[in-house]
Amino acid sequence: MCAFHHPSFDGHESVTYAHDPAVGLTAIIAIHSRALGPAAGGCRMAAYPSTDAALNDVLRLSRGMTYKNAMAGLALGGGKSVIIGDPATAKTPALLEAYARAVDRLGGAYYAAEDMGIGAQDVHVMGKVTRFVAGRPEGSAASGDPSPVTARGVFLGIRLAVRRALGRDDLAGIRVAVQGLGNVGFSLCRKLRAAGADLVVADVRRAAVDAAVAELGAIPVSTDEIFDAAVDVFAPCAGGAILTGQTVGRLNARIVAGAANNQLLDDACGQALRDRGILYLPDYVINGGGIINVAAEIAGRYDPSWVEHKLQRLMTTLDEVVGEAGRSGLPTNIVADRMAERRIASARQRQAA
Ligand code: NAD
Repeated sequence: MCAFHHPSFDGHESVTYAHDPAVGLTAIIAIHSRALGPAAGGCRMAAYPSTDAALNDVLRLSRGMTYKNAMAGLALGGGKSVIIGDPATAKTPALLEAYARAVDRLGGAYYAAEDMGIGAQDVHVMGKVTRFVAGRPEGSAASGDPSPVTARGVFLGIRLAVRRALGRDDLAGIRVAVQGLGNVGFSLCRKLRAAGADLVVADVRRAAVDAAVAELGAIPVSTDEIFDAAVDVFAPCAGGAILTGQTVGRLNARIVAGAANNQLLDDACGQALRDRGILYLPDYVINGGGIINVAAEIAGRYDPSWVEHKLQRLMTTLDEVVGEAGRSGLPTNIVADRMAERRIASARQRQAA
């Protein structure tokens, strides 16, 4: 499908297709908006079933980055990229370099970083070709893997939600179902367990589940059963679009708060969560820690105290979203969208003035 006519196009500034058959590269780089600054967002590598599926993913993720960066108070716009291919078999240094040349040709309109299928070592390879990447493992201003900071933000968000929805200041004995035990999910589990929470976990990777059971005393369930787990918090930390009309009806939790991008299949699912009395922390707000970490590197000087300050500000913003949703009766996802849109609109006005 042509990007212009795609239902998720939403006024994107540009959509660039990068192709290098010599190294097997097929990639799409989407820039949604640069109203707040150069676009920044991760590069995802996945074995998409079709180019249309990849286009849909990159457009939704790129728009999400505009909103995420706005809510994180960053001078960055929204963009994202996808490389089509199985990272386990198709990823080579030559392919990463070809992708990095495509990023470089955009001349700084877009900064790439890690996402699913792309790690800090891959960013290191890209960084030999272009300076428009961040999340490097080494070098001056290197910010490294953003996942631990994302996990810290999600942990702080869960604490906030527990305070708001359950009236509890601590997490002792709070039951959390974590879907996905990857870079963010496992790190989140460790933080939750250290705070006294009890864990229910699921992952398609048996080894990750076994590790959570052995190290953290987690209760393992299947990737389907995780939706029914009787818990206080459901924390999606795997793929997107997992909250559908059907799965929302199955949830047995009071709070949904996790790292995954684009958790809601559509906006109506936010209303459905609200109708069921489930507090949903909008994904692109609670998971903003990673891009804050990346932004410190893009700014040219990695300062951990700046990152922590921004993270605390993000939690204040998250609390404002929950408070405003309570007052207005609107679902939290709609409140967050409106807040982000106000920030983007005022940046556009400042640019025009
Ligand atoms: P990851 O690839 O390291 O981990 C994802 C995990 O989910 C893997 O262990 C995978 O096996 C598991 N998984 C896949 N399908 C599953 C299923 N159906 N049920 C249960 N588990 C399943 O990725 P990550 O970096 O930990 O990111 C997790 C999510 O958070 C993604 O949606 C990502 O876009 C989002 N996110 C990540 C960051 C970051 O800093 N890494 C920042 C913001 C948002």
